[in-house]
Amino acid sequence: MVATKSSRIVVVEDEPAIRRGVADALRLCGYDVAEAADGVRGLAEASRPDADLILLDLMLPRKDGLEVLRELRQSRPAVPVIVLTARGGEDDRVRGLKMGADDYVVKPFSARELLARIEAVLRRSTGH
Ligand code: CA
Repeated sequence: MVATKSSRIVVVEDEPAIRRGVADALRLCGYDVAEAADGVRGLAEASRPDADLILLDLMLPRKDGLEVLRELRQSRPAVPVIVLTARGGEDDRVRGLKMGADDYVVKPFSARELLARIEAVLRRSTGH
């Protein structure tokens, strides 16, 4: 648990209220957080070797989330990615998982649910 608390999480989300809400909740829990409001910036942040987990919205300006995921998987095949999807976006969820996302959460989600999923994915990725 202590080890995961200093993990760096990249929040790629163009809706400012959601992005800031998620980032604030993560920082409160002790995570190191990077924010990106579009897909190009998000891919750059996610590609950094110190990024431990990516929260990835799919509908993004400049580069959509599935394209970000596809390109990210070429450089970082194993970095954990949790996709943030709109309610009813089942096709997007399936495509995201097929393209290598580790999990997804459906908007609107609670901070508590998101944190639980982040912790579970980080546990799996670090083997603890
Ligand atoms: Ca969006």
